[in-house]
Amino acid sequence: MTKGHAEPDPFADIRDGVRALCAKFPGDYWRSLDRERAYPTAFVAALTEAGYLAALIPEEFGGSGLTISAAAAILEEVHASGGNGAACHAQMYIMGTILRHGSDAQKQRYLPKIASGELRLQAFGVTEPTSGTDTLALRTVARREGDHYVINGQKIWTSRAEHSDLMLLLARTTPREQAQKRTDGLSVFLVDMRLAQGTSMTITPIRTMMNHATTQIFFDDLRVPAENLIGEEGKGFRYILSGMNAERILIAAECIGDAKWFIDKATRYAKERELFGRPIGQNQGVQFPIARCYAQMRAAELMVREAARKYEAGGDIGAEANMAKLLAGDASWAAADMCVQTHGGFGFAEEYDVERKFREARLYQVAPISTNMILSYLAEHVLGLPRSY
Ligand SMILES: Cc1cc2nc3c(=O)[nH]c(=O)nc-3n(C[C@H](O)[C@H](O)[C@H](O)COP(=O)(O)OP(=O)(O)OC[C@H]3O[C@@H](n4cnc5c(N)ncnc54)[C@H](O)[C@@H]3O)c2cc1C
Repeated sequence: MTKGHAEPDPFADIRDGVRALCAKFPGDYWRSLDRERAYPTAFVAALTEAGYLAALIPEEFGGSGLTISAAAAILEEVHASGGNGAACHAQMYIMGTILRHGSDAQKQRYLPKIASGELRLQAFGVTEPTSGTDTLALRTVARREGDHYVINGQKIWTSRAEHSDLMLLLARTTPREQAQKRTDGLSVFLVDMRLAQGTSMTITPIRTMMNHATTQIFFDDLRVPAENLIGEEGKGFRYILSGMNAERILIAAECIGDAKWFIDKATRYAKERELFGRPIGQNQGVQFPIARCYAQMRAAELMVREAARKYEAGGDIGAEANMAKLLAGDASWAAADMCVQTHGGFGFAEEYDVERKFREARLYQVAPISTNMILSYLAEHVLGLPRSY
C-alpha cells in the first residue's frame, strides 16, 4: 500500500501469509459468489486449513494461542486483499464465551474440534425481530425439563447458520419480571444444529444487499441437553457482553482493511485514468478526498491498535473497543464513497469490485452494533451523561 507505515510490523509474516492465501481468491471469485449469493466454501476451507481461524484458541486446545492484535492483522489483510471475512470471522471470537465461561469438560469437548475445523462454531443467535438492539427484551424461551432445556422462539440475522455445526444461543430462562436484576434471567446455550435442523429448528435464508449468509431461525420445542448450558443459568447476558469487545475490535480491523483496499484502488485508478491530457489524480478535487480518507483511516487504525493493546493488557476496554468500531466503520464507509466517486461511472460497474465492496462496507454502520448505540455508550459511560434509553 501507500507509504507511511515506517515502524516494523510484528505481524509482517502473518500478513504475508494471509495475503498469499487471498491471492488465490481474486476479485472474480468474490464477484461470482456475490452474483449467486453463494457461500465462499473454498476460501473458508483454505483459511481453516492454514489455521488462521484458530488464532485465538489457546495452544493447549489445539489453536495457535495468538493475541487479538494478530487475529486483527489476519482479518484486516483478508479485507485489504478485496475479500470478506464475514463468512467465517465469528469462528474466531464466538468460542471466547466457551473459553471464558464454559466448564473444563465443555472446553475439552469442543475447542480442539473447533480449532481443527472439524466443528464449525459460526452461528451466534442473539438478535430477534421484536427486540433488535434491546437485547434484554428478547422472547426466545428455554424451559428446563429434567436433564434438558426446551427452547421455543425465533432469531433473526443469525449469520452463517447454514454453514455452522454449532450455535451459541441466548434465551430467556427466567421471566423478565421475576429476574432479580434487569440483566439477569438470560442464559447461553451451545446448540448442536446438526441434530435439530429440519425438525425442531427451521432455518430460512434472508437475501440481503450484499452477499452475507444470514438467516432467520424458528425454534419449535428444540431440546438441548442441560450440559450444554454455558456457565450459570441466568447470567448469559454478561457472558455475551464479555465477548463483544473482541468482536468489535476484530470487525474494526476488517473495516481498516476495507478502507485500505478502497484507498489503494482509488489511488491507482486516479494515477492511470487520463482526461484532459493528464491523470485525474493530478486534480486536487480528486486527490484531496483520497488523502483525507487516508488520514481518517490511519487515525482509526491507531484506535484499533490501542483497543487491541488494552484488550491484551486486561481490564475494561468497552470505550476503546466501541470507539475503534465507530471510527473504523466511518473510515471504511467514507473511503467506499470516495472510491466510487473517484471511479466515476466505473465505480458502478460490477467488474471493478468497487460497488461490491461499497455494499459490503455499509453493513458496519449497523452491525454488529449500530452507530447510535456506540454513541450512547460513550455518552453514558465515558462522559457521564444521563442514560437515554
Ligand atoms: C447482515 C447482518 C448480519 C447480522 N448478523 C448477526 C448475527 O450473526 N447474530 C445476531 O445476533 N445478530 C446479527 N445481526 C443483527 C445486528 O446486530 C442488528 O441488526 C443490529 O444490532 C441492529 O439491530 P436491529 O436491526 O434490530 O435494529 P433496531 O434495534 O430495530 O434499530 C433500528 C435503528 O434505530 C436505532 N436505535 C434503536 N434504539 C435506539 C436508541 N435507544 N437510541 C438511538 N438509536 C436507537 C438503531 O441504532 C438503528 O439505527 C446482523 C445484522 C445484519 C444486517
